[in-house]
Amino acid sequence: MDKVVKEQQVVVNEDFAHFFAKNNAERLIIDGIIADNPMRITPYLKTLILKYESIRKQFLPSPLEAITYGSTTPFEEGKKTSQVYGLERLYRDRVLLTPHFDCPAYCRFCYKKSRVMRNRKSMSYDDIDQAIGEIRKMEDVRGALITGGDPFMDTKKLFYLLDRLVALSNISEIRIGTRMLLNSPHVFTDELCDQLADYIRPDFTDPNKSKYLAINVHFNHPDELQPEVLQACHKLTSRGITLRNQTVLLKGINDNTKTMKHLFQLLLRNNIIVYYMNHCMPVAGSDHLRTSVQKGLDIYKDLCTESSCSIPHYVYAPSGGKVHVGPDSTFEYSEINGMKVIKVDMLYKAEEFRKLTKKDLPLHHGETEDGFIKGVYIDGKD
Ligand code: SF4
Repeated sequence: MDKVVKEQQVVVNEDFAHFFAKNNAERLIIDGIIADNPMRITPYLKTLILKYESIRKQFLPSPLEAITYGSTTPFEEGKKTSQVYGLERLYRDRVLLTPHFDCPAYCRFCYKKSRVMRNRKSMSYDDIDQAIGEIRKMEDVRGALITGGDPFMDTKKLFYLLDRLVALSNISEIRIGTRMLLNSPHVFTDELCDQLADYIRPDFTDPNKSKYLAINVHFNHPDELQPEVLQACHKLTSRGITLRNQTVLLKGINDNTKTMKHLFQLLLRNNIIVYYMNHCMPVAGSDHLRTSVQKGLDIYKDLCTESSCSIPHYVYAPSGGKVHVGPDSTFEYSEINGMKVIKVDMLYKAEEFRKLTKKDLPLHHGETEDGFIKGVYIDGKD
């Protein structure tokens, strides 16, 4: 087991698991919830959870998780697109690699908290070699997103993968998605950051041959931007590694303009690009953390009066792909099995989806007359 993985093993305190239980009945409800969706936190997060409600609500189970709609795998439904374990291709120009399906801490709004997702084995070195062989043949693909679970759970494997990806002539854009900067900022040692920066390879004589590596980080609230966290971010940005933040809109945590504005201004000041504000996916048990998509739009409109550097892309994600919301967006609503859903004509072609994923369209999705995917997204409640 990788040294980093070992360091993330955390003893979960009983009292932490039942923090949000008001009585014995709720303790039992939480026991039922964590049987399927165990909680996990890191020692560093533990210190923050003791101080901040905004962080507690993201990592400690609530009895409200028992009120459930949605899916344990909301975005995964359209996946399993390749024969190679850990490699997925949903889009023409980029692939997704998941070397490690586990995370050092589980966010209660994320589908990775479920045993269904987390108990998958990691990619073996042989799986990685096979994936590289497949990607080499994909002429249209120029980007690779290494996602998780958290890729920094096993840094030896991560660097094995990076070494091979950067050597592919068709791959020029490598991104790593992680929440390790919040969960365990001490992982980002000078040595590790130096190693990561080595994958940025500009070619000044032929910019077509330049390669870059960026990290997609995940901060949801200003309380998360602690000194240790910002220092770890600075170690990366000062070495030329771009950090782009993806925020999840969460009811009772950051679903107001003041908090979001503050978060985005702090990110900007600390050299982190404000990238996405994601509507919280319809993960089973996340009902109490999901606002309506419209509420996110109301916040987004307020943000649009700010400097454009601190305005994220606001998106929600039906199983068929991302939908961008603009300040003038309107929504068409319908109902499926008693759930309020948004129906949307997406920008992706149905035929291309079938061709790339080798699957039919996700459940309840359809096709417009001119061949685009008609998506369906379960809305949240305010
Ligand atoms: S949001 Fe990221 S860190 Fe949190 S459980 Fe999901 S994949 Fe893991």
